[in-house]
Amino acid sequence: MSKKSMSWSEMIKLNNRAFYLYFRHYPQMVLSRMVCVMWDALTPYVGIYFSALVIDELAGGKDAGRLRFLVMLTLVSGAVIALLSALFNKWKETHNAGLWWKVNALLFEKLLAMDYVSRDEARTAELLFIIRQNQGGSGWGLHRVLGGYEEVCSSVFTLVGGIALTVSLFVSRVPERAGVYTILNHPLSAVLMIAVMLTITYIAPVLSNKANSYWAFSVQSLNLANRLYAFFGALGYHRETAADVRMYRQDKICERSNRENRENTFGSKGLMAKYGRGPMGLCNAVSSAVSVIFTGMVYAFVCLKAWAGAFGLGAVAQYIASITKVSVGMSGLISALGDMRNNAAFLVPVFEFFDIPNTMYQGSLTVEKRRDRKYEVEFRNVSFKYPGSENYALRNVSIKFEIGRRLAVVGMNGSGKTTFIKLLCRLYDPTEGEILLNGIDIRKYNYAEYMMIFSVVFQDFQLFALKLGENVASGTSYDRGRVRDSLEKAGFAERLLELPDGVETYLYKDYDKSGVNISGGEAQKIAIARALYKDAPFIILDEPTAALDPVAEADIYAKFNEIAGDKTAIYISHRLSSCKFCDMIVVFHEGAIIQQGTHDSLVADENGKYHELWHAQAQYYTE
Ligand code: ADP
Repeated sequence: MSKKSMSWSEMIKLNNRAFYLYFRHYPQMVLSRMVCVMWDALTPYVGIYFSALVIDELAGGKDAGRLRFLVMLTLVSGAVIALLSALFNKWKETHNAGLWWKVNALLFEKLLAMDYVSRDEARTAELLFIIRQNQGGSGWGLHRVLGGYEEVCSSVFTLVGGIALTVSLFVSRVPERAGVYTILNHPLSAVLMIAVMLTITYIAPVLSNKANSYWAFSVQSLNLANRLYAFFGALGYHRETAADVRMYRQDKICERSNRENRENTFGSKGLMAKYGRGPMGLCNAVSSAVSVIFTGMVYAFVCLKAWAGAFGLGAVAQYIASITKVSVGMSGLISALGDMRNNAAFLVPVFEFFDIPNTMYQGSLTVEKRRDRKYEVEFRNVSFKYPGSENYALRNVSIKFEIGRRLAVVGMNGSGKTTFIKLLCRLYDPTEGEILLNGIDIRKYNYAEYMMIFSVVFQDFQLFALKLGENVASGTSYDRGRVRDSLEKAGFAERLLELPDGVETYLYKDYDKSGVNISGGEAQKIAIARALYKDAPFIILDEPTAALDPVAEADIYAKFNEIAGDKTAIYISHRLSSCKFCDMIVVFHEGAIIQQGTHDSLVADENGKYHELWHAQAQYYTE
């Protein structure tokens, strides 16, 4: 981040945008905060005003009836104000609970609505990391915005109230008999006093803001150090690395990064420590000292005028209180604006993230609901390059999926099998060519409806530390019978019998101590059961048996026809023996389909890739 501060207009634009973002999503939260802040800023003046009247009456007229009336008025107004304050604060607390959660919900909403292609980009991950880092580090970014507006609002009201009660201080005249003190009646003395007070009030928060701006200047080095720490410093936290760390003492390779972080970034040689010893510390110190001078001057001016007879004791109390409020209001305003300006620099990545456009065309055609599952999908001359990549991951692929049949997609690693599936599910759009569903380009369909026709078990599927049934159904309410049925079909029946609470058993121990740990193979079976529960017309298994033991693998193959039922099934594997049962096999090589046919016809083609792969693998498998 550059050392140049952001322009005021840019800062206002960014903050207003964040304010409206909150307002659109959480209007009650914003309103309750603003109402409370105005109320809290204005009500103290009622007390100040009535107290001054009481003191004046005590020092002057001493009329018991009037005194009683004034005291009653002070007490009743105080009680009403306290009651309304409690009500407003309750309203505010109700709507402000979980602000952190609400901000994260805004980020998640954007992430989920984002095109997969953008979600997959490195810049998206980087922005998300920066935003969360700034948030977690010292609360910079979206979290700070409403606080800034509150501070501005409260300061303006404090200022206006303070000025209203202070004006008479400068207007009230010292009587002529006060001799030399009549100089205080000269307009210049008031102007001079106001000028000095304003200057001092201005300097303190400006210096304090300047001190805070050093956070923004050092954020890049802090972010990098935090990122390194998040990985190397916290190696012991990751469950996945626990075994490797012990086996290879990987903590040793982290020492250098951790030492550098400790000493050069967060320690005494770090940028923040340098700023703290230098300009940042100086600004903070002078800012505090200047505030004390202000208080001294206020007392001197007010007391001199009272001494000279310009007003009584009650007014002294009122003026000291109200002028202090003017100063608090003004420095609050300057410091709030400065803080909003510092924070605006942290809103830039936030809005870069929110502005990531959705460029994939979203059609509106509904996908016809067909009981006969006759959904015909065809790739027509499809080629594809990943964004930012020079090379084609798929080249001129043409294929028609036959309804209700089993198709195997085979090929070496990197030949384009997974990319082919990602295009079929429209996670990406083809660079050239088109994909058709029942003769219509899939881009023209409503995307959510199009996704409903696929169940996919990706290689890197995720299960959650929730109940087994919730994982299978991807929801909190589910049909237990269907969950059990899907698990049985996926080969999980025996293990299910051992689970203490059946489909209600929690997976892993993160949220429930009676949760069960499951092996990679078991996790894969649950993922397959989840795909079956969705009961979509297409079922796609991407290397589904990679983590299964040979017995479980054989079991899945044997039952695959039963598992897939009347669905169109696509089965991806680089293990050819697992594809023999399929009606049709297509062979991918360097992004293109180079062969297709049944196992027998392909193995018979001695010059083909399939024949070569088959014989290369045959030594590991018995036919
Ligand atoms: P397979 O599933 O057959 O192992 P993939 O479809 O994963 O192959 O990969 C096909 C090609 O696309 C490979 O060259 C791979 O490096 C490249 N590739 C895969 N994912 C990405 C990505 N997100 N960005 C850029 N290139 C990618």
